[in-house]
Amino acid sequence: MTDLKCMTLPELEALFKQDGLPKFRAKQVYRWLHRGVVSFSEMSDLSKDLREKLAGQYTFAVAKVERKQVSKVDGTIKYLFSFEDGATVESVLMKYKHGYSICISTQVGCRMGCTFCATGKSGYLRNLLPSEMLAQIQAAERDADVRISNIVLMGMGEPLDNYDNVLRFLELVSSEDGMNIGMRHISLSTCGLVDKIDQLAKEKLQLTLSVSLHAPNDEIRSRTMPINRKWNVEQLLDACRRYADATHRRISFEYAMIDGVNDSDACALELASRLKGMLCHVNLIPVNSVEGTGYHRSARIEKFSTLLANRGITTTVRRTLGSDIDASCGQLRRRTLNESAKNS
Ligand code: SAH
Ligand code: SF4
Repeated sequence: MTDLKCMTLPELEALFKQDGLPKFRAKQVYRWLHRGVVSFSEMSDLSKDLREKLAGQYTFAVAKVERKQVSKVDGTIKYLFSFEDGATVESVLMKYKHGYSICISTQVGCRMGCTFCATGKSGYLRNLLPSEMLAQIQAAERDADVRISNIVLMGMGEPLDNYDNVLRFLELVSSEDGMNIGMRHISLSTCGLVDKIDQLAKEKLQLTLSVSLHAPNDEIRSRTMPINRKWNVEQLLDACRRYADATHRRISFEYAMIDGVNDSDACALELASRLKGMLCHVNLIPVNSVEGTGYHRSARIEKFSTLLANRGITTTVRRTLGSDIDASCGQLRRRTLNESAKNS
C-alpha cells in the first residue's frame, strides 16, 4: 500500500484526484499526517466512512516506542523505536536553552563500518523511508509532550547513503503545511561521501553540513574510517571547500578525540594547517567508548582545542548530553540486539 506520509502535498493531491477523492481532502490529510497522528481514525474532521476508506486503501509509517532511557543528569531521552517490519532505530531527544532538539536515524544500521562506532559494528539492514524519519520526530513529540524545533541527522546510518529519501524528508519536514521546521534548524552529518556532497551543494540548502573528519591525515583516517580509502582527506576537504563556496555555509567538522589515536599535538597542528582559510568550524567530541573497540576518551581535549584556536580555527568542545544513558547512537540498539541474541 502507498505510504501517504512519503508524499508531498501536490503528489497527494494528484493521488486523491486519480482515486476520485476531492482535492481539498488531500490538504486535510497531509496536515494530520504531519501533525503525527498514528492512525486514520484520529483524523477527526473527516467522516467515519472516509477514514475507513483511506485506511483500506493507504498506509503511513509510525514509530513505536520499544525502549526508552531518561538521563538523570539532564533529562535527555534516548528512544529505541520500531517500525512495522520490526526494524529498530535510535533517536535522542535533548533539551537546550532555546527548545528541544532531536537526533534521528536515517538507516537501520550503516554500511560504512567506522571502527569506533556502535552502529557501524552492528551492520546494515535497510534504508529508512522519509515517513519513518518524520515518524521518529513525531513519536518523540507525542511521548514527551514537547514541540521540537531542531533536527540533527546524526543518529544511526549515513544520511548521504540514503540520499533520495533524506532529501525528500528535508522537503517534507520543512514544508509549510507539514512540521514547518526551517532548514536553518537542521544539521546533516556525513562521514564524507564526496560525490553526494557535490550533489547536495547543488541543492543550495540552508542546512548545516557536519563532516565527520576525526583525523588530520590518511594514515589515521583510513585506519578508523574505511570510506577514506575511497575518498581521502584531501579529496574530502576539496569537496567541503566547493560546498562552502556554493552554499556560503560554514562546514562543521566533527572530531571525536580518541586517546592515543588522533589526539596528539602533531595531529592538532596538522589539522590546523589543512583547514587554514576554509569557512569552517571544528567540534571536538569526547569519544564514547564502545564495547569491543578498545578506544578510550582522550584527556587532551582542552590542549588540542587551544592549539587549534591559536591558529585561527574556531573550535568548540561538545557538551555531552545523556552521559549516563549509553550516550552515542547505536549503543542501545546494539545492547538490545545482543540481549535478544543471548535469550534466543
Ligand atoms: N553517518 C554519519 C552520521 C551518523 S554518526 C556520520 O558518520 O557523520 C553521528 C556522529 O557520531 C558522527 O560524527 C560519528 O563519527 C560520531 N560517532 C560515532 N561513534 C562515536 C563514538 N563512539 N563516540 C563519539 N562519536 C561517535
Ligand atoms: Fe556509519 Fe556514521 Fe557510524 Fe561511520 S560513524 S559507521 S558513517 S553511522
